[in-house]
Amino acid sequence: MEKVAIIGSGCAGLTAALYAARANLQPLVLTGRHPGGLLTTTTVVENFPGFPEGIDGYELMVRLQKQAERFGARVQFGTVENVDLSGQPFHLVVDGETIDAETIIIASGAGHRHLELESEIKLENKGVTYCATCDGALPMFRNQALAVVGGGDSACEEAMYLTRFGSIVYLIHRRDSLRASKIMAERTLAHSKIKPIWDSIVTDVMDVSQGKVTGVRVKNVKTNIERVLECSGVFVAIGHTPNTQIFKGLIDMDEQGYIVPKRGTATNVPGVFVAGDCSDRVYRQAVTAAGLGCAAAIEAERFLAARNE
Ligand SMILES: Cc1cc2nc3c(=O)[nH]c(=O)nc-3n(C[C@H](O)[C@H](O)[C@H](O)COP(=O)(O)OP(=O)(O)OC[C@H]3O[C@@H](n4cnc5c(N)ncnc54)[C@H](O)[C@@H]3O)c2cc1C
Repeated sequence: MEKVAIIGSGCAGLTAALYAARANLQPLVLTGRHPGGLLTTTTVVENFPGFPEGIDGYELMVRLQKQAERFGARVQFGTVENVDLSGQPFHLVVDGETIDAETIIIASGAGHRHLELESEIKLENKGVTYCATCDGALPMFRNQALAVVGGGDSACEEAMYLTRFGSIVYLIHRRDSLRASKIMAERTLAHSKIKPIWDSIVTDVMDVSQGKVTGVRVKNVKTNIERVLECSGVFVAIGHTPNTQIFKGLIDMDEQGYIVPKRGTATNVPGVFVAGDCSDRVYRQAVTAAGLGCAAAIEAERFLAARNE
């Protein structure tokens, strides 16, 4: 019987593991298909506190795992396929095997939506990115033309943020008006550095042969006319999908699948807590995920202490 089972090994899951381990709870971390989580896919992380020179994303996650293991956390490669939260203990089916646990911390993250272009995948981290807050300040984007793809609040926020660094920011949207809230849309469109490219989709990111972004090919969906916009960065902001499908109908979530905590990190099921990007549609940062992981572990510890009183 596990005292604490943690679903996910990103910043949220491993920070929860560190805290639960230091509370002597020997947590079990189930890695899922991406041990170390999303941060392992990036090169330099410049905004995680404590690393003035920045740190490689993979290295940061290896260090975090070692730190948690030092205090007794156990990290098991495996994906949770099914959960039974109908009573105590909870049951988790992990690659066909059942694990029983008194508490669960869900830290399964969220994936960003892709444009589904081969060139986009090939140029990821070479000018194609999914997070302006994370990457916008990198030298490669400074004083360059940049493109944001999307038309919602996130796309507007990314575009506004990028005006600090880029010489011009193209906002490419497949419709002729923004989906974002009125105030956000007005503020975005009023910015002198932001140039909307309406009714357009990106059909190619260039230039794979050079190994860096030099522009995007966009097609006007009304006229079918294609043209090239020169730019050095493409920020894809067409939404995220939380990895929460296995909890559907069991844990309260919003219409997009983000888990909605009841209080702090506690969910509607007593003994099940949530942390990180799978419940955060707003900040989506490594440090906020880590902070929520810490909070979830403290809540789990208190839950167990109260049960055993
Ligand atoms: C390219 C890129 C660069 C970024 N750069 C920065 C940056 O510079 N600074 C910053 O603050 N943020 C950055 N971010 C954002 C940051 O990576 C996320 O905010 C952070 O990783 C969220 O942590 P998390 O633990 O909530 O989720 P994730 O890191 O997404 O981890 C989720 C974990 O859950 C696991 N999982 C999912 N489903 C299951 C399942 N069914 N069973 C078991 N495990 C499961 C996955 O395998 C994974 O280990 C970047 C993101 C990307 C994509």
